[in-house]
This record gives sequence, structure tokens and C-alpha cells, in this order.
Amino acid sequence: MRITVAGAGNVGLVTAVCLAETGHHVTCLDTHKEKIEMLEQGHSPFYEPGLEPLLEKNLANGNLCFTANPNHAYSEAEIIVIAVGTPEKRDGSIDLSYVYAAAYHIANTIKNDVIVCIKSTVPAGTNDIIKQIFYHSKPRHLKIDVVSNPEFLREGSAIMDFFLGDRIVIGTDSPEAASIMEQLYLPLKIPILFTDIRSAEMIKYASNAFLATKISFINEIANLCEKVGANIEEVSYGMGMDKRIGTSYLQAGIGYGGSCFPKDTKALVQLAGNVHHPFELLESVIRVNQRQHSLLVAKAKEIAGSLKGKKAAVLGLAFKPETDDIREAVSLTIIKELLEEGSIIMAYDPIAVPKAEKLLGKSIEYTTNIREALKGADFAVIATEWDQIKHLPLNTYVDYMKEPIVLDGRNCYSLKDIQRYSITYVSIGRPSIENVERAQQH
Ligand code: NAD
Repeated sequence: MRITVAGAGNVGLVTAVCLAETGHHVTCLDTHKEKIEMLEQGHSPFYEPGLEPLLEKNLANGNLCFTANPNHAYSEAEIIVIAVGTPEKRDGSIDLSYVYAAAYHIANTIKNDVIVCIKSTVPAGTNDIIKQIFYHSKPRHLKIDVVSNPEFLREGSAIMDFFLGDRIVIGTDSPEAASIMEQLYLPLKIPILFTDIRSAEMIKYASNAFLATKISFINEIANLCEKVGANIEEVSYGMGMDKRIGTSYLQAGIGYGGSCFPKDTKALVQLAGNVHHPFELLESVIRVNQRQHSLLVAKAKEIAGSLKGKKAAVLGLAFKPETDDIREAVSLTIIKELLEEGSIIMAYDPIAVPKAEKLLGKSIEYTTNIREALKGADFAVIATEWDQIKHLPLNTYVDYMKEPIVLDGRNCYSLKDIQRYSITYVSIGRPSIENVERAQQH
């Protein structure tokens, strides 16, 4: 099939590359000319494991091409996938202007009947507005079927998620469009759920809200564990043994970040408010998450007193491992709070440094060498559970830091391992460990 994907971001580019890999002729459109130039050279504008080799391969075999020209992209397509950004507005609602702009472009440029598949995460009712745009703006003799096809990929494992996802959701009122979408996805052998359009839109928000709820729930239990002297790792392990609960998303930490959970939870609260049904549970989930972001700096102050002039090593900038995405990363809150306290920051990340540098400029120092970050530091804060951090020999903290005080927001180390070293160690929902020598001095 001839497919056009609008948007070459984390979702659009992965979708375009993977559909090309399954043998379709894919044109990927983005309004960002520099991105298109990079992509034409076979370089991805962001890090996603396994993406660049597939990108290069499909560029070379002619299955994939890139353009910044909507006329070229849309006119001959059989299926158009809209995967443009839907950023958050100040009031927590969603900015749909990029989605609507793409819809108007499509209506004004298509030359054939086409299926338009909305992959961007949009609130219930948006696909109906898009239908109205098409109804009023497209040439009368052409037919456009609208399909809601929300995306569930996770950054860091996006390629695997495309080929081995748990489900594909197709929301449409057109049997012909449903059948063509089924043919498109059938080779992946992933269960397909056909629904009405609004239910498809809601499945995406409800899924992310539920996962965020699990995270905030386990974080609240972790906070309680600290107060009552229990260990969250044992508690969540014991909970997860119950198949009704399951083990995933039960790892306590300093909360969720990224481009989806914070935005989608707020948008669902906003949507609920719009229909006069306050979503109190989700409002609490968001509040708990925001509070969690500030835990480590508060704990650092408890241990080290004033943080003014102290050297802080912030380990991990990306919102999670295996991505260079720093959108809504917890590291950013930590850095902001440490700067407010007057700390001097050296931040380590194996790949997210360029993106962080663009955002934070010279307010902090950066390194891709974890030992350089730790050298002479008064304390270290772990914000992202990168393997490079999890597998760091623990004596490194003792050997390189001025004071081996480690505040671990992702519970990267076992308490047993830590106990073998003279490290003061604070994690989430587990007993703290005081460095013996330090305890004697104080
Ligand atoms: P992104 O910001 O990384 O990329 C969006 C891209 O769209 C940008 O490159 C931008 O230049 C381009 N664009 C904007 N307007 C355009 C237009 N009219 N035509 C062509 N290109 C245009 O966004 P993303 O992370 O890929 O997310 C895209 C959508 O998918 C969002 O709705 C998001 O909520 C949803 N989503 C994201 C993820 C994720 O993990 N990132 C997962 C599931 C769903």
C-alpha cells in the first residue's frame, strides 16, 4: 500500500520505518525541514534502539522516503497516518492545532479516496471534529474515512512494541476502512480490537491513566513503608505474586515523567471536568506524582543540611533509560530545585546530554562520563535507572566522591550490596543506610 505518515517524531518515524519494513511504500512528512534533511541522510533526530539500521535499510531499498512537502506526501496516498505532536496547553488541555492543520492540508491536497488514521493521542470527540473538517473542506467527489488508531509504543522499546505489541485498536464507523486497516496490520499477528471511534480514543487515555495510577499507588505505599519500617521491594514483590495485580508498573521511585503520562493524565482530568464529572482519583495520582519528584532534594537536605555551594552529581537526565527524551523528565525538577538551593551541578547521561544542554544551557555542567560527574561530589542523585548506573561498581562512589552520599530515586542497588561499602544511601520505600564512618563523625 502507499502510506503517508505525517510527523517524524517518536511515534511517526517509528511507524513509518516499521511499515516500510513490512513492505509498504511509505512517505514520511514533517514540517521541520532540518529533520527531513537529517532523515534523508539516514540519521534519526532522536535515539531509539534499533531504529537507525532499519531507517537506512528502507531508505536504501526505496520503501521509505521523506519530504517536507505536504502536496507531494498526501496527493497519491491510500492511507494517511497522522502522528503529529499534541502538546499540553497551559491549562492542561491538549493543543490540537497540529492535528487540525494536517487535516486541512490533507483535505486540500488529496487526489484519491483515502483513509486517514489518527495515531496522535487526542481527546474523545476529536476524530469527529476531524470528520467535520473533511466534510466541509475536501473535494466533493472524494471520500475520506477516518480511523482512530491510538499508539501504545514505549520509547526505548518502540520497534519491539510495533512488531510485538499487545493489541492494535481500530476505531471506525466504516466497515471498508476497518477491513483495509485489518489487512495493513494482519501480518504482525497482533490481536486487533475494532471499536467505535470515541471508545478507541478513550482506550488510550484510560490505559495511560491506569498505568500512572499504578505508579502513584506504589509510590504512596513506598512512602508508607518508610514510615512503618517495611521494604517496598518485598511488598511489591508480594503484591505482584497475585495474578490479579501483576508485577508490572509496581516499581517504586520518584515518579513518572516523559511526553505521555503527565500530559495524558492532565488531559483526561480536563476532559472529565468539561463534562462535569470531576476525576478525583486521577487528580490525586497527579498530585502524588508531583510530590514524588521533590522527594530526593528534600532527603538530600535532611542528610547534608544546606545544599548551598555543594557539588551535586545528577545521574540520568532522560525521563527513562534507552531514550534521549527529556520531556517532563524528573531530572529537570531535581535540577531546578538543586539550583534554587544553590548547588553546583554536574549532570551525567549517556545520550541525553545534547537535548538537556539545549534546554538548560550553561546553568549546569554535563558529562557522558559517570566518574567525571562523581569526582569530588558532595552527594549524588540518581534520576534515571540507566544500566550504566545500575552496573557501576559501588566502590566508584567511595573512590570518586568527596562524601559518598547517594540518593537513589530509582532503587538501582540492593541494600545488601550497598552495605558492603561506606556509602550513605537513601532510596525510595526502603530503610536508609548510614555510612559508618560518617555516622561516627557526626
Ligand atoms: P513529537 O513531538 O516527537 O513529534 C511530532 C512531529 O510532528 C514533529 O517532528 C513535528 O515537526 C511534526 N509536525 C507537526 N505538525 C505537522 C504537520 N502538520 N505535518 C507534518 N508534521 C508535523 O511527538 P511524538 O512523541 O511522536 O508524539 C506524537 C503523538 O503520539 C502525540 O499525540 C503523542 O501524545 C502520541 N504518543 C506518543 C508516544 C511517545 O512515546 N512519544 C507514545 C504514544 C502516543
